[in-house]
Amino acid sequence: MAKTIFSLEVFPPKRDDGIENIYAPLRGLCAINPDFISVTCSAGGSAEGLTVEVCDYIRREYDVPAVAHLTCAGSDRATIKRTLSDLRTRGIDQILALRGDLAEGRTLTDYRHATDLISDVVSFGGFSVMAACYPEGHKESARFSDDLDVMKRKEDLGATHFLSQLFFDERDFLHMLEGARKHGVTSPIEAGIMPVTNAKQIVRMVQLSGAKIPEGLAKRIARYEYDPEGMRRAGIEYVVEMSRRLLAEGVDGLHLYAMNNADTAKAFFEGVRTELGR
Ligand code: FAD
Repeated sequence: MAKTIFSLEVFPPKRDDGIENIYAPLRGLCAINPDFISVTCSAGGSAEGLTVEVCDYIRREYDVPAVAHLTCAGSDRATIKRTLSDLRTRGIDQILALRGDLAEGRTLTDYRHATDLISDVVSFGGFSVMAACYPEGHKESARFSDDLDVMKRKEDLGATHFLSQLFFDERDFLHMLEGARKHGVTSPIEAGIMPVTNAKQIVRMVQLSGAKIPEGLAKRIARYEYDPEGMRRAGIEYVVEMSRRLLAEGVDGLHLYAMNNADTAKAFFEGVRTELGR
């Protein structure tokens, strides 16, 4: 039986703040021994922030595989090539190939979709390519089945692993998973898990991702609005319970949006450790 994957996602500090800001969180996160840690990039792409440097640090310091997020919206081919060369030189060989959000005023030049980027990364050679998928559908998609076609296309072009957008109702993920398999997608599809640990964060997350909040979660958020520690505990408990149900369904893995918080990640991991078989 294939091993259940457990991975983490972090965001790099701003270049002006310095890479040292992520050393302490990474110490705690790497101690969990995830299968890999993926590092987000700013809307402007990996070249603008510290994504590549943080991946390099994770790999060298902790020997944990690092996955660099790479967005292409607004980038040209020369910039993408430079970033790929930089990653290759540093021995980082896994990429999450993304289009990126269409920020106001951004024009698409050489790349229109993540599929264009996947083709280029595969042609460049030497990288395993991951791609994004959307349990509640991507906000720009007219039909849910369009997203499933896109997943299949991404896989046909060379993506070998999917990471999902966050969601709070496991039925959405299981519905997407079933649809993807029916569309012939065979790669592992990890469920993106976001612990809601403060009420303000959830508003921002919902705005960005479009995820809906089920009644059970809304009630918990309301109950702990003025109790930060209670909110943190309830938020972790909610995603632990949801993840246990997903693992009972035999999902390929869990990708935790760790938000650079080792304590939260550790608490979540302990909640699902047995079910992950670790
Ligand atoms: P695409 O796959 O291009 O999809 C965008 C839309 O176009 C969808 O509606 C899709 O159905 C459609 N589409 C795709 N391909 C085609 C095609 N060939 N022809 C016609 N239609 C097509 N953003 C960041 O800026 N930095 C990050 O680090 C980051 N990390 C992320 C990590 C994960 C796990 C996820 C799920 C998202 C992340 N995002 C990140 C957000 C992501 O950039 C946005 O969701 C973006 O709007 C879409 O990216 P995509 O790669 O899915 O795009």
